[in-house]
Amino acid sequence: MHQAKSFTAKPLRVFISYYRPHRKLFGVDMFFAFLISGADLLFPLLTKYTIETLLPGRLYRSFFIMIGLAALLYLFRMGFSYVVTYWGHTLGTYIEADMRRDLFGHLQEMPFSFYDNHRTGHLMSRVTNDLFEVTELAHHGPEDVFISLLTLAGSFVLILLMRWEMAVVIFTVMPLMLVHIILSRKRMMAASRKVKERTAEINASLESSISGARVAKAFTNESHEKGKFAGGNERFKRARRTYYRSMAAFHSRLEFLTGLLNVIVLAAGGFLIMQDRMTLAELITCNLFVAAFLQPIRRLQNFVEQYTTGMAGFGRFLEIMRIEPDIKDQPGALDLEQVRGDILYRDVSFAYHTAPEDAAGNGKDAGQTLVLRRVNLSVPAGTSIALVGPSGGGKTTLCQLLPRFYDIREGSITVDGRDIREISLESLRRNIGMVQQDVFLFAGSIRENIGYGRTGASLDEIIGAAKRAEIHEDILKMPQGYDSLVGERGIKLSGGQKQRVSIARIFLKNPPILILDEATSALDTATETRIQKALEELSRGRTSLVIAHRLSTIRNAGRIVVIGREGILQQGTHEELMQSGGLYAELYQAQFPLRWHLRDEAPC
Ligand code: ADP
Ligand code: MG
Repeated sequence: MHQAKSFTAKPLRVFISYYRPHRKLFGVDMFFAFLISGADLLFPLLTKYTIETLLPGRLYRSFFIMIGLAALLYLFRMGFSYVVTYWGHTLGTYIEADMRRDLFGHLQEMPFSFYDNHRTGHLMSRVTNDLFEVTELAHHGPEDVFISLLTLAGSFVLILLMRWEMAVVIFTVMPLMLVHIILSRKRMMAASRKVKERTAEINASLESSISGARVAKAFTNESHEKGKFAGGNERFKRARRTYYRSMAAFHSRLEFLTGLLNVIVLAAGGFLIMQDRMTLAELITCNLFVAAFLQPIRRLQNFVEQYTTGMAGFGRFLEIMRIEPDIKDQPGALDLEQVRGDILYRDVSFAYHTAPEDAAGNGKDAGQTLVLRRVNLSVPAGTSIALVGPSGGGKTTLCQLLPRFYDIREGSITVDGRDIREISLESLRRNIGMVQQDVFLFAGSIRENIGYGRTGASLDEIIGAAKRAEIHEDILKMPQGYDSLVGERGIKLSGGQKQRVSIARIFLKNPPILILDEATSALDTATETRIQKALEELSRGRTSLVIAHRLSTIRNAGRIVVIGREGILQQGTHEELMQSGGLYAELYQAQFPLRWHLRDEAPC
């Protein structure tokens, strides 16, 4: 289904490529559009025949047959029009849905750094608003152009055959209209793009204000929020007005030109009649043709508007689609089946790309600071190390490099002796479990949230994991048990419960490598002690990287690694580090000033 598509080609080419899977439907749509324009051209011809032949001969019978035929013609046209409107719009919706599918799929492939630099609201706007008008464009676009050009060409030929002077006069105005349409397009396109940017801004501000509503209330900053929103709303209004200004100019000028056409037909036709070079019947027919092709001109006008708004949205769609995820599988990436969990960091350096917010294309390096400098670290399979250090020292960063959430700049990281860049992302990440300080739960039931650890897990397995994570009892007390809803981001659970749900996920996933990033920092000590048990059970037999804020929790770790802004500063057991003095001893002393002298006492 999802075929590789090149998004770097010209926008129109990419747009057209979306018709390919629906070409049958497109063919049907175009065929009936063709019939419609045929019917529109037939009516003036019937009229001409009636006026010129049937009326003077007072041929009543033929006259009424002709009227019947004309009515029948419009009856057929009704059917054609139904097909075009219904199936055409359906086609448009299919195409829009395909684009949305591709965009969503693409967003799923994007690495952490992309989400660091794009706001949720902006991205949502791209998936919904920007593609909103594409349906109309995808359906009406080709049909409008096709019907219009066909009707225009047809009427030109028919008028030419009837009275060439009229054809010449009428069709000198046409190029003027076309030039006008083409010139206006650019300005409207720019204005429409601006509107889309402002809409995205509103969505982003809405998203952030709604998700921050609780904070705003706590600080009684509702009016500040309203003010911020009003600013964005004002900019949106201005952008819309600019767009409508260019649209109004476009509309009114085009209407003037079509009005002019009527005047020109009357002038030229009247002159030719007075010169006895044209009949009245021909003038009437001419007028009917003009009426018949005013419709195509309106269609073209319509098309230009739809094209500008639709293509502006499509352009923004392409902007995202053209960003290649920089973290992806190498060709021929390995699938690791049985991972033991030997981890080795060798001379690893890393800096975050900090792209300007919502910048298009691949983020330019606006500024870079090295977070990790030539770090060397080895964790043998099945063992556990503790990472400690000042906040902002790079502990989280160091851990996030292992599942390739970010790619290192220099050096190498290996798992079981394999460079992680040679391993497929899927198998690498399947073998690593992560418990972090902020837990994200999806709005849904507890059962779904634990089940997220391994899709397809049975309820029994989920309950087993919940028991090992010490959350089973809590869940049973909830009104709907495992089907209880957790609310958005798990708002209906306590911090400790959320954390245990996330631990249950990892039990279910059962990876050989484990990363615990301040898993218990946000919790009170009583809850921490409970969870600590679950975590110890979790890390048994797994290679574990444990970041702990409270040094009490890692005092018994076999090896402690101290990370500061300059990289790894110290390594050793608790006792060794305390003996040698330095950053670890200082941190420990800061947390347990009283216990510092009683080295053997377990701090609490
Ligand atoms: P720790 O976990 O030790 O507290 P982090 O690894 O979270 O430290 O952060 C290390 C440094 O990297 C900090 O200076 C922080 O500002 C920066 N940093 C962390 N995450 C990002 C990010 N996504 N983009 C840019 N800079 C970041
Ligand atoms: Mg951290």
